[in-house]
Amino acid sequence: MSNLETASRSLIEAHQLARLQLGLSRLLPANRFYQEKLAGKERLSLERLADLTLLPYTTKRELVADQAAHPLFGSNLTYPLSDYIRLHQTSGTTGLPLKILDTQESWDWWGDSWKTVYQGSGVTRDDIVFLAFGFGPFIGFWSAYEGAKKLGALTVPGGGMDSLQRLRAIQEIGATVLVCTPSYALRLAEVAQEYGMNMRDSTVRVTIHAGEPGASIPATRERIEDAWGATTYDHAGMTEMGAFGFACSEQNGLHVNEAEFIAEVLDPRRIGQPVQGGQVGELVLTNLGRWGSPAIRYRTGDMVRHGGYSCKCGRTFLHLPGGILGRVDDMLIVRGINVYPSTLADILHRFPAVAEYRVIVTRDGPMDEIALEVECPPDLIKYIQDELRTALHLRIPIEPVEPGTLPRFELKAKRVEDRRKRM
Ligand SMILES: [Zn+2]
Repeated sequence: MSNLETASRSLIEAHQLARLQLGLSRLLPANRFYQEKLAGKERLSLERLADLTLLPYTTKRELVADQAAHPLFGSNLTYPLSDYIRLHQTSGTTGLPLKILDTQESWDWWGDSWKTVYQGSGVTRDDIVFLAFGFGPFIGFWSAYEGAKKLGALTVPGGGMDSLQRLRAIQEIGATVLVCTPSYALRLAEVAQEYGMNMRDSTVRVTIHAGEPGASIPATRERIEDAWGATTYDHAGMTEMGAFGFACSEQNGLHVNEAEFIAEVLDPRRIGQPVQGGQVGELVLTNLGRWGSPAIRYRTGDMVRHGGYSCKCGRTFLHLPGGILGRVDDMLIVRGINVYPSTLADILHRFPAVAEYRVIVTRDGPMDEIALEVECPPDLIKYIQDELRTALHLRIPIEPVEPGTLPRFELKAKRVEDRRKRM
């Protein structure tokens, strides 16, 4: 744990302000995107961290439009192209894929941020880290690889393998840490069971999950821990932002790595108004070490709960109980009740016999309606419905489907099928 992780708020904020001032002094003379965005504010001397709120937000839509207007990489570049060493892109699940470049300096910064994720999860240089992921243009697991290297742990890229090959590789090399999406950890356990392998007895002692929420959803986490006989930790990051969230020994949501990011939690209905004291809002982040392709006051679209600045682990970095609760756009309003897909996951994963499920969203007039398809024995349906009714005060239709018929996912699980637009 670095000293800053347990420092006073005034020390943390002084560190953030100094980094922000340094960064702005580097990007303003050269970065066309932020030159235009911050036009008229160049001479603004940020004297207090609160002055950050005088700067405008950055949105994904703006970055995508900028890239379309200035192909290939857009104008959010602070250095000549020859200074950049890595190209990654977003998955494009919410629009066109965004191409993002990193310099050697910012790639090192990514690695250091991931090192914090490992350290929060109790991983050390004596561990053997297996990354169960196809290594493509998605940044998440490349940066996880870089972080494990910085930690000094033996690191195994599990790309180009099917699930069975990955399970065998984990056993053969005696991996102690598994990094993958939460959905894929469950998929691997399912394949292990098919082949009569018991991963509870494997050497894996820690699992870390990226790419989608899940490891902060209690029932999902317990299911992964049970299947792997391991302790499960959450992590959150974004291609356009960095690896900003890490879990600690309390396994209660995430901390924001405030040594490298400034976090604001804002009311999504009245953007600009901060929320505090356990309230839910949109996470807005500024990164403090990626000056080659920065993001200032970036609206992540992620909903989080502001959990204050104290934690039993001793850290004073912002705590987000429950981790990423969902996307701003994901929230469904069913008969006047707010429903997050993560709440459905939490309830469904309490039933060990539920293998996979799908949420079907339709629209009846101005109202959203949801129905579920669940891989489970038909006689379980009534019990699931009762749990859902207790938690959400909604009666949700459920159709049981044959085991193995719903899709499985390695990267971002798409369990919500939106049929509203086609109606
Ligand atoms: Zn903590």
